[in-house]
Amino acid sequence: MALIVQKYGGTSVGSVERIKNVARRVIKWADAGHQLVVVVSAMSGETNRLIGLAREIQPEPDPRELDVVASTGEQVTIGLLAMALKSLGRDARSYTGFQVGVHTDSAFTKARIESIDQQRIRADLQAGRVVVVAGFQGVDSDGQITTLGRGGSDTSGVALAAALDADECQIYTDVDGVYTTDPRVVPEASKLPSITFEEMLEMASLGSKVLQIRSVEFAGKYRVRLRVLSSLTPWDIPLAEEMRSGTLITFEEDQNMERAVVSGIAFARDEAKITVVGVPDRPGIAYQILSAVGQANIEVDMIVQNQSVDGFTDFSFTVGRNDYARTLGILKSQVQAHIGARDVLGDPKSCKVSIVGVGMRSHAGVASTMFRTLSEEGINIQMISTSEIKVSVLIDEKYLELAVRALHRAFDLDAPAAASA
Ligand code: ADP
Ligand code: ASP
Ligand code: MG
Repeated sequence: MALIVQKYGGTSVGSVERIKNVARRVIKWADAGHQLVVVVSAMSGETNRLIGLAREIQPEPDPRELDVVASTGEQVTIGLLAMALKSLGRDARSYTGFQVGVHTDSAFTKARIESIDQQRIRADLQAGRVVVVAGFQGVDSDGQITTLGRGGSDTSGVALAAALDADECQIYTDVDGVYTTDPRVVPEASKLPSITFEEMLEMASLGSKVLQIRSVEFAGKYRVRLRVLSSLTPWDIPLAEEMRSGTLITFEEDQNMERAVVSGIAFARDEAKITVVGVPDRPGIAYQILSAVGQANIEVDMIVQNQSVDGFTDFSFTVGRNDYARTLGILKSQVQAHIGARDVLGDPKSCKVSIVGVGMRSHAGVASTMFRTLSEEGINIQMISTSEIKVSVLIDEKYLELAVRALHRAFDLDAPAAASA
Protein backbone atom coordinates (compact mmCIF):
# COMPACT_ATOMS: atom_id res chain seq x y z
CA MET A 1 0.00 0.00 0.00
CA ALA A 2 1.35 3.40 -0.98
CA LEU A 3 0.40 6.89 0.11
CA ILE A 4 -0.14 8.91 -3.04
CA VAL A 5 -0.87 12.61 -3.44
CA GLN A 6 -2.58 13.43 -6.72
CA LYS A 7 -3.11 16.96 -7.99
CA TYR A 8 -5.65 17.77 -10.69
CA GLY A 9 -5.39 21.11 -12.52
CA GLY A 10 -8.11 23.42 -13.82
CA THR A 11 -8.80 21.67 -17.14
CA SER A 12 -8.88 18.30 -15.39
CA VAL A 13 -11.77 19.51 -13.19
CA GLY A 14 -13.16 21.89 -15.83
CA SER A 15 -16.67 20.38 -15.98
CA VAL A 16 -18.95 18.21 -13.88
CA GLU A 17 -18.24 15.31 -16.22
CA ARG A 18 -14.47 15.74 -15.78
CA ILE A 19 -14.87 15.92 -11.99
CA LYS A 20 -16.79 12.62 -12.13
CA ASN A 21 -13.95 11.15 -14.19
CA VAL A 22 -11.41 12.33 -11.62
CA ALA A 23 -13.51 10.58 -8.96
CA ARG A 24 -13.51 7.34 -10.97
CA ARG A 25 -9.74 7.53 -11.47
CA VAL A 26 -9.14 8.21 -7.77
CA ILE A 27 -11.34 5.26 -6.81
CA LYS A 28 -9.39 3.03 -9.20
CA TRP A 29 -6.22 3.86 -7.23
CA ALA A 30 -7.93 3.54 -3.86
CA ASP A 31 -9.45 0.19 -4.86
CA ALA A 32 -5.93 -1.05 -5.55
CA GLY A 33 -5.23 -0.52 -1.84
CA HIS A 34 -3.52 2.88 -1.92
CA GLN A 35 -4.18 5.82 0.38
CA LEU A 36 -5.15 8.90 -1.60
CA VAL A 37 -4.87 12.60 -0.86
CA VAL A 38 -6.23 14.62 -3.77
CA VAL A 39 -5.45 18.30 -4.33
CA VAL A 40 -7.58 20.21 -6.81
CA SER A 41 -7.44 23.55 -8.60
CA ALA A 42 -10.42 25.72 -9.42
CA MET A 43 -12.34 24.84 -12.60
CA SER A 44 -10.47 26.23 -15.63
CA GLY A 45 -11.04 29.93 -16.16
CA GLU A 46 -12.55 30.37 -12.71
CA THR A 47 -9.58 32.03 -11.00
CA ASN A 48 -9.30 34.48 -13.91
CA ARG A 49 -13.01 35.21 -13.59
CA LEU A 50 -12.72 35.87 -9.85
CA ILE A 51 -9.71 38.15 -10.28
CA GLY A 52 -11.61 39.95 -13.06
CA LEU A 53 -14.53 40.59 -10.70
CA ALA A 54 -12.16 42.00 -8.10
CA ARG A 55 -10.60 44.31 -10.71
CA GLU A 56 -14.03 45.62 -11.66
CA ILE A 57 -14.36 46.89 -8.10
CA GLN A 58 -10.74 47.98 -7.60
CA PRO A 59 -8.35 48.16 -10.59
CA GLU A 60 -5.50 47.35 -8.17
CA PRO A 61 -7.35 45.04 -5.78
CA ASP A 62 -6.55 45.06 -2.08
CA PRO A 63 -4.27 41.99 -1.77
CA ARG A 64 -5.92 40.62 1.39
CA GLU A 65 -9.39 40.81 -0.09
CA LEU A 66 -8.18 39.54 -3.46
CA ASP A 67 -7.02 36.36 -1.76
CA VAL A 68 -10.38 35.99 -0.03
CA VAL A 69 -12.03 36.15 -3.46
CA ALA A 70 -9.48 34.21 -5.56
CA SER A 71 -9.31 31.28 -3.14
CA THR A 72 -13.02 30.49 -3.48
CA GLY A 73 -12.66 28.69 -6.82
CA GLU A 74 -10.91 25.76 -5.15
CA GLN A 75 -13.54 25.52 -2.43
CA VAL A 76 -16.13 24.71 -5.09
CA THR A 77 -14.10 21.93 -6.68
CA ILE A 78 -13.15 20.18 -3.42
CA GLY A 79 -16.82 19.98 -2.44
CA LEU A 80 -17.90 18.75 -5.87
CA LEU A 81 -15.15 16.13 -6.03
CA ALA A 82 -15.95 14.84 -2.52
CA MET A 83 -19.62 14.56 -3.54
CA ALA A 84 -18.67 12.71 -6.72
CA LEU A 85 -16.55 10.27 -4.70
CA LYS A 86 -19.31 9.68 -2.16
CA SER A 87 -21.93 9.20 -4.83
CA LEU A 88 -19.73 6.45 -6.26
CA GLY A 89 -19.60 4.78 -2.86
CA ARG A 90 -16.17 5.92 -1.65
CA ASP A 91 -15.99 7.78 1.64
CA ALA A 92 -14.25 11.13 1.25
CA ARG A 93 -13.84 14.49 2.95
CA SER A 94 -13.02 17.87 1.52
CA TYR A 95 -10.93 20.48 3.31
CA THR A 96 -9.92 24.05 2.59
CA GLY A 97 -6.32 25.08 3.25
CA PHE A 98 -7.51 26.74 6.44
CA GLN A 99 -9.27 23.60 7.70
CA VAL A 100 -6.31 21.31 7.05
CA GLY A 101 -3.79 23.77 8.42
CA VAL A 102 -1.72 24.77 5.40
CA HIS A 103 0.29 27.46 7.19
CA THR A 104 1.89 30.17 5.08
CA ASP A 105 3.61 33.51 5.53
CA SER A 106 1.48 36.63 5.08
CA ALA A 107 2.56 37.63 1.56
CA PHE A 108 -0.91 37.86 0.05
CA THR A 109 -1.16 36.63 -3.58
CA LYS A 110 2.29 34.99 -3.38
CA ALA A 111 2.44 33.35 0.03
CA ARG A 112 4.95 30.61 0.85
CA ILE A 113 3.97 27.43 2.64
CA GLU A 114 5.74 27.10 6.00
CA SER A 115 4.17 23.95 7.41
CA ILE A 116 1.19 21.64 7.03
CA ASP A 117 -0.68 19.89 9.83
CA GLN A 118 -1.02 16.17 9.33
CA GLN A 119 -3.39 15.12 12.10
CA ARG A 120 -6.68 15.47 10.31
CA ILE A 121 -5.47 13.97 7.07
CA ARG A 122 -3.86 10.99 8.79
CA ALA A 123 -7.02 10.30 10.79
CA ASP A 124 -9.15 10.31 7.65
CA LEU A 125 -6.74 8.10 5.76
CA GLN A 126 -6.74 5.68 8.71
CA ALA A 127 -10.51 5.62 8.53
CA GLY A 128 -10.30 4.64 4.86
CA ARG A 129 -11.36 8.00 3.45
CA VAL A 130 -10.05 9.82 0.42
CA VAL A 131 -8.92 13.27 1.54
CA VAL A 132 -9.62 16.13 -0.88
CA VAL A 133 -7.68 19.36 -0.24
CA ALA A 134 -8.05 22.76 -1.88
CA GLY A 135 -4.92 23.77 -3.75
CA PHE A 136 -3.53 27.30 -4.08
CA GLN A 137 -4.56 28.45 -0.60
CA GLY A 138 -3.36 28.59 2.96
CA VAL A 139 -3.70 30.54 6.16
CA ASP A 140 -1.21 32.83 7.89
CA SER A 141 -0.41 32.94 11.61
CA ASP A 142 -3.09 35.59 12.05
CA GLY A 143 -5.83 33.39 10.55
CA GLN A 144 -5.96 35.30 7.25
CA ILE A 145 -6.57 33.49 3.99
CA THR A 146 -3.59 33.55 1.62
CA THR A 147 -2.96 32.28 -1.91
CA LEU A 148 0.27 30.89 -3.33
CA GLY A 149 0.61 32.65 -6.69
CA ARG A 150 -0.81 31.58 -10.04
CA GLY A 151 -0.39 27.88 -10.68
CA GLY A 152 0.05 27.39 -6.93
CA SER A 153 -1.94 24.17 -6.63
CA ASP A 154 1.12 22.30 -7.91
CA THR A 155 2.95 23.59 -4.85
CA SER A 156 0.09 22.60 -2.55
CA GLY A 157 0.29 19.07 -3.96
CA VAL A 158 4.05 18.70 -3.62
CA ALA A 159 4.12 20.35 -0.18
CA LEU A 160 1.43 17.93 1.06
CA ALA A 161 3.38 15.01 -0.38
CA ALA A 162 6.49 16.25 1.44
CA ALA A 163 4.65 16.79 4.73
CA LEU A 164 3.03 13.35 4.60
CA ASP A 165 6.18 11.67 3.29
CA ALA A 166 4.08 10.30 0.43
CA ASP A 167 5.44 7.64 -1.89
CA GLU A 168 4.69 9.71 -4.98
CA CYS A 169 3.15 13.03 -5.98
CA GLN A 170 1.30 12.81 -9.28
CA ILE A 171 0.50 16.03 -11.10
CA TYR A 172 -2.41 15.31 -13.46
CA THR A 173 -2.81 17.89 -16.19
CA ASP A 174 -4.02 18.40 -19.76
CA VAL A 175 -0.82 17.11 -21.40
CA ASP A 176 0.62 13.66 -20.80
CA GLY A 177 3.95 14.77 -19.41
CA VAL A 178 6.75 17.28 -19.69
CA TYR A 179 7.63 17.94 -23.33
CA THR A 180 10.77 19.25 -24.98
CA THR A 181 8.86 22.52 -25.23
CA ASP A 182 5.25 23.66 -24.93
CA PRO A 183 3.40 21.35 -27.36
CA ARG A 184 0.89 24.12 -27.99
CA VAL A 185 3.64 26.15 -29.66
CA VAL A 186 5.61 23.33 -31.29
CA PRO A 187 3.35 20.41 -32.26
CA GLU A 188 6.49 18.35 -33.02
CA ALA A 189 7.59 18.58 -29.37
CA SER A 190 8.27 15.18 -27.87
CA LYS A 191 7.42 13.87 -24.44
CA LEU A 192 10.33 13.28 -22.10
CA PRO A 193 10.05 10.00 -20.18
CA SER A 194 12.17 11.60 -17.49
CA ILE A 195 13.80 14.92 -16.78
CA THR A 196 16.31 15.76 -14.07
CA PHE A 197 15.15 17.85 -11.19
CA GLU A 198 17.78 20.45 -12.08
CA GLU A 199 16.51 20.75 -15.64
CA MET A 200 12.89 20.92 -14.49
CA LEU A 201 13.81 23.70 -12.09
CA GLU A 202 15.39 25.68 -14.93
CA MET A 203 12.47 24.99 -17.30
CA ALA A 204 9.95 26.12 -14.68
CA SER A 205 11.92 29.20 -13.70
CA LEU A 206 12.38 30.17 -17.35
CA GLY A 207 8.67 30.19 -18.07
CA SER A 208 7.52 26.61 -18.67
CA LYS A 209 4.27 26.70 -16.79
CA VAL A 210 3.63 22.96 -16.70
CA LEU A 211 4.83 23.03 -13.07
CA GLN A 212 4.92 26.05 -10.78
CA ILE A 213 8.56 26.73 -9.87
CA ARG A 214 7.95 26.52 -6.15
CA SER A 215 6.55 23.02 -6.51
CA VAL A 216 9.81 21.91 -8.12
CA GLU A 217 11.81 23.63 -5.38
CA PHE A 218 9.78 21.75 -2.76
CA ALA A 219 10.25 18.47 -4.57
CA GLY A 220 14.01 19.06 -4.63
CA LYS A 221 14.28 20.11 -1.03
CA TYR A 222 12.24 17.22 0.36
CA ARG A 223 13.13 14.70 -2.35
CA VAL A 224 9.53 14.08 -3.35
CA ARG A 225 9.07 11.58 -6.13
CA LEU A 226 7.23 13.69 -8.69
CA ARG A 227 5.43 12.64 -11.87
CA VAL A 228 3.51 14.69 -14.45
CA LEU A 229 0.77 12.78 -16.26
CA SER A 230 -2.49 13.19 -18.14
CA SER A 231 -5.98 13.34 -16.67
CA LEU A 232 -7.45 13.22 -20.16
CA THR A 233 -6.70 9.54 -20.82
CA PRO A 234 -9.63 7.15 -20.22
CA TRP A 235 -9.92 6.86 -16.43
CA ASP A 236 -9.94 3.07 -16.56
CA ILE A 237 -6.58 2.48 -18.25
CA PRO A 238 -4.77 -0.28 -16.35
CA LEU A 239 -3.10 0.97 -13.20
CA ALA A 240 0.27 -0.56 -14.08
CA GLU A 241 0.25 1.35 -17.37
CA GLU A 242 -0.73 4.59 -15.67
CA MET A 243 2.01 4.14 -13.06
CA ARG A 244 4.63 4.12 -15.80
CA SER A 245 3.12 6.91 -17.87
CA GLY A 246 3.97 10.58 -17.99
CA THR A 247 7.28 12.14 -17.05
CA LEU A 248 9.21 11.33 -13.90
CA ILE A 249 11.33 14.08 -12.39
CA THR A 250 14.53 12.29 -11.39
CA PHE A 251 17.24 13.27 -8.99
CA GLU A 252 20.05 11.61 -10.89
CA GLU A 253 20.77 11.57 -14.54
CA ASP A 254 19.72 8.29 -16.10
CA GLN A 255 23.09 6.69 -16.78
CA ASN A 256 21.63 4.33 -19.35
CA MET A 257 20.31 7.12 -21.43
CA GLU A 258 22.49 8.95 -23.88
CA ARG A 259 21.47 12.47 -22.99
CA ALA A 260 20.57 15.13 -25.46
CA VAL A 261 22.78 18.20 -25.18
CA VAL A 262 19.66 20.30 -24.93
CA SER A 263 16.71 18.64 -23.18
CA GLY A 264 14.15 21.37 -23.60
CA ILE A 265 13.27 24.89 -24.63
CA ALA A 266 11.42 27.24 -22.31
CA PHE A 267 10.05 30.68 -22.99
CA ALA A 268 8.51 33.57 -21.10
CA ARG A 269 6.29 35.86 -23.12
CA ASP A 270 5.68 38.78 -20.85
CA GLU A 271 9.06 40.39 -20.45
CA ALA A 272 9.90 44.08 -20.69
CA LYS A 273 13.28 45.73 -21.19
CA ILE A 274 14.38 48.96 -19.54
CA THR A 275 17.56 50.85 -20.47
CA VAL A 276 19.02 53.66 -18.42
CA VAL A 277 21.03 55.60 -21.00
CA GLY A 278 24.15 57.66 -20.42
CA VAL A 279 24.85 56.62 -16.85
CA PRO A 280 28.07 57.92 -15.25
CA ASP A 281 30.27 54.84 -14.87
CA ARG A 282 31.14 54.95 -11.17
CA PRO A 283 30.74 52.62 -8.17
CA GLY A 284 27.24 52.36 -6.72
CA ILE A 285 25.24 53.14 -9.87
CA ALA A 286 23.89 49.62 -10.39
CA TYR A 287 22.97 49.53 -6.72
CA GLN A 288 21.13 52.86 -6.92
CA ILE A 289 19.14 51.79 -9.97
CA LEU A 290 18.25 48.31 -8.80
CA SER A 291 17.61 49.12 -5.14
CA ALA A 292 14.95 51.67 -6.14
CA VAL A 293 13.27 48.97 -8.22
CA GLY A 294 13.70 46.33 -5.51
CA GLN A 295 12.17 48.56 -2.87
CA ALA A 296 9.00 48.65 -4.96
CA ASN A 297 8.95 44.83 -4.79
CA ILE A 298 9.65 44.51 -8.51
CA GLU A 299 11.68 41.49 -9.55
CA VAL A 300 14.55 42.09 -11.96
CA ASP A 301 15.69 39.30 -14.24
CA MET A 302 18.41 39.76 -16.88
CA ILE A 303 20.94 42.57 -16.37
CA VAL A 304 23.50 43.96 -18.82
CA GLN A 305 25.91 46.85 -18.42
CA ASN A 306 27.80 48.04 -21.48
CA GLN A 307 31.46 48.99 -21.77
CA SER A 308 31.78 52.64 -20.81
CA VAL A 309 32.70 55.31 -23.35
CA ASP A 310 34.11 58.61 -22.03
CA GLY A 311 33.01 57.66 -18.52
CA PHE A 312 29.38 56.94 -19.47
CA THR A 313 27.60 53.64 -19.99
CA ASP A 314 24.12 52.17 -20.65
CA PHE A 315 22.51 49.90 -18.09
CA SER A 316 19.73 47.52 -19.21
CA PHE A 317 17.59 45.03 -17.36
CA THR A 318 14.30 43.17 -17.70
CA VAL A 319 11.20 43.05 -15.53
CA GLY A 320 7.85 41.32 -15.91
CA ARG A 321 5.57 43.22 -18.29
CA ASN A 322 3.06 43.87 -15.49
CA ASP A 323 5.73 45.88 -13.72
CA TYR A 324 6.91 47.79 -16.80
CA ALA A 325 5.04 51.08 -16.38
CA ARG A 326 5.76 51.21 -12.66
CA THR A 327 9.49 50.56 -13.17
CA LEU A 328 9.74 53.24 -15.84
CA GLY A 329 7.92 55.68 -13.55
CA ILE A 330 10.23 54.97 -10.60
CA LEU A 331 13.37 55.40 -12.68
CA LYS A 332 12.20 58.62 -14.31
CA SER A 333 10.91 60.21 -11.12
CA GLN A 334 13.35 58.97 -8.46
CA VAL A 335 16.55 57.79 -10.10
CA GLN A 336 17.36 59.50 -13.40
CA ALA A 337 18.13 62.99 -12.08
CA HIS A 338 19.71 61.62 -8.93
CA ILE A 339 22.37 59.60 -10.76
CA GLY A 340 22.68 61.99 -13.69
CA ALA A 341 21.51 59.57 -16.40
CA ARG A 342 20.68 61.00 -19.83
CA ASP A 343 17.43 59.10 -20.41
CA VAL A 344 15.35 56.06 -19.46
CA LEU A 345 14.03 54.03 -22.38
CA GLY A 346 11.84 50.96 -22.44
CA ASP A 347 10.53 48.19 -24.65
CA PRO A 348 7.56 46.28 -23.25
CA LYS A 349 7.40 43.83 -26.15
CA SER A 350 10.21 41.44 -25.38
CA CYS A 351 10.25 37.75 -24.62
CA LYS A 352 12.85 35.36 -23.29
CA VAL A 353 13.73 32.07 -24.98
CA SER A 354 16.00 29.58 -23.22
CA ILE A 355 17.64 26.30 -24.06
CA VAL A 356 18.08 23.97 -21.07
CA GLY A 357 20.07 20.77 -20.61
CA VAL A 358 22.51 19.14 -18.22
CA GLY A 359 24.25 17.83 -21.36
CA MET A 360 25.57 21.36 -21.96
CA ARG A 361 28.12 20.86 -19.20
CA SER A 362 30.09 18.48 -21.33
CA HIS A 363 29.51 20.05 -24.75
CA ALA A 364 31.11 23.18 -26.13
CA GLY A 365 29.51 25.23 -28.87
CA VAL A 366 25.91 24.99 -27.68
CA ALA A 367 25.51 28.75 -27.34
CA SER A 368 27.02 29.37 -30.77
CA THR A 369 24.57 26.90 -32.36
CA MET A 370 21.79 28.84 -30.68
CA PHE A 371 23.06 32.22 -31.89
CA ARG A 372 23.68 30.92 -35.43
CA THR A 373 20.15 29.50 -35.61
CA LEU A 374 18.63 32.79 -34.54
CA SER A 375 20.76 34.79 -36.96
CA GLU A 376 19.74 32.49 -39.84
CA GLU A 377 16.14 33.39 -39.03
CA GLY A 378 17.04 37.10 -38.94
CA ILE A 379 16.24 37.38 -35.22
CA ASN A 380 18.15 40.02 -33.30
CA ILE A 381 19.34 39.13 -29.80
CA GLN A 382 18.84 41.94 -27.30
CA MET A 383 20.36 40.33 -24.19
CA ILE A 384 22.01 37.06 -23.25
CA SER A 385 22.38 35.27 -19.95
CA THR A 386 23.91 31.89 -19.27
CA SER A 387 24.39 29.35 -16.53
CA GLU A 388 25.99 25.90 -16.56
CA ILE A 389 22.83 24.28 -17.93
CA LYS A 390 21.00 27.03 -19.79
CA VAL A 391 21.39 29.85 -22.29
CA SER A 392 18.69 32.53 -22.40
CA VAL A 393 18.19 35.27 -24.93
CA LEU A 394 15.87 38.24 -24.94
CA ILE A 395 14.26 38.89 -28.33
CA ASP A 396 11.36 40.83 -29.84
CA GLU A 397 8.15 39.02 -28.92
CA LYS A 398 7.01 38.88 -32.53
CA TYR A 399 9.73 36.28 -33.18
CA LEU A 400 8.90 34.02 -30.24
CA GLU A 401 7.22 31.15 -32.10
CA LEU A 402 9.73 31.30 -34.95
CA ALA A 403 12.68 31.21 -32.53
CA VAL A 404 11.33 28.32 -30.46
CA ARG A 405 10.54 26.23 -33.55
CA ALA A 406 13.90 26.91 -35.18
CA LEU A 407 15.82 26.06 -32.00
CA HIS A 408 13.74 22.94 -31.45
CA ARG A 409 14.78 21.77 -34.90
CA ALA A 410 18.40 22.88 -34.58
CA PHE A 411 18.90 20.86 -31.39
CA ASP A 412 17.29 17.73 -32.90
CA LEU A 413 14.35 17.81 -30.56
CA ASP A 414 11.73 17.38 -33.31
CA ALA A 415 12.34 13.68 -33.81
CA PRO A 416 10.33 11.27 -31.64
CA ALA A 417 13.58 9.79 -30.38
CA ALA A 418 14.78 13.28 -29.46
CA ALA A 419 15.58 12.38 -25.87
CA SER A 420 18.30 10.02 -27.03
CA ALA A 421 19.55 12.05 -29.99
P1 ADP B 1 -3.03 22.75 -14.96
O1 ADP B 1 -4.28 23.54 -15.08
O2 ADP B 1 -3.26 21.27 -15.02
O3 ADP B 1 -2.19 23.16 -13.79
P2 ADP B 1 -1.32 24.28 -16.72
O4 ADP B 1 -2.04 24.98 -17.83
O5 ADP B 1 -0.89 25.07 -15.55
O6 ADP B 1 -2.21 23.03 -16.29
O7 ADP B 1 -0.02 23.52 -17.29
C1 ADP B 1 -0.14 22.65 -18.37
C2 ADP B 1 0.24 23.37 -19.66
O8 ADP B 1 1.61 23.70 -19.62
C3 ADP B 1 0.10 22.56 -20.92
O9 ADP B 1 -1.22 22.61 -21.43
C4 ADP B 1 1.12 23.19 -21.87
O10 ADP B 1 0.52 24.08 -22.78
C5 ADP B 1 2.01 24.01 -20.94
N1 ADP B 1 3.43 23.73 -21.10
C6 ADP B 1 4.41 24.67 -21.19
N2 ADP B 1 5.60 24.11 -21.34
C7 ADP B 1 5.41 22.77 -21.35
C8 ADP B 1 6.28 21.65 -21.47
N3 ADP B 1 7.59 21.78 -21.62
N4 ADP B 1 5.73 20.41 -21.44
C9 ADP B 1 4.40 20.24 -21.26
N5 ADP B 1 3.53 21.26 -21.16
C10 ADP B 1 4.02 22.53 -21.20
N1 ASP C 1 -6.50 28.17 -9.57
C1 ASP C 1 -5.19 28.74 -9.42
C2 ASP C 1 -4.74 29.43 -10.71
O1 ASP C 1 -5.48 29.45 -11.67
C3 ASP C 1 -4.17 27.75 -8.95
C4 ASP C 1 -3.85 26.63 -9.93
O2 ASP C 1 -4.64 26.38 -10.85
O3 ASP C 1 -2.84 25.97 -9.73
O4 ASP C 1 -3.68 29.98 -10.75
MG1 MG D 1 -0.82 24.73 -13.52
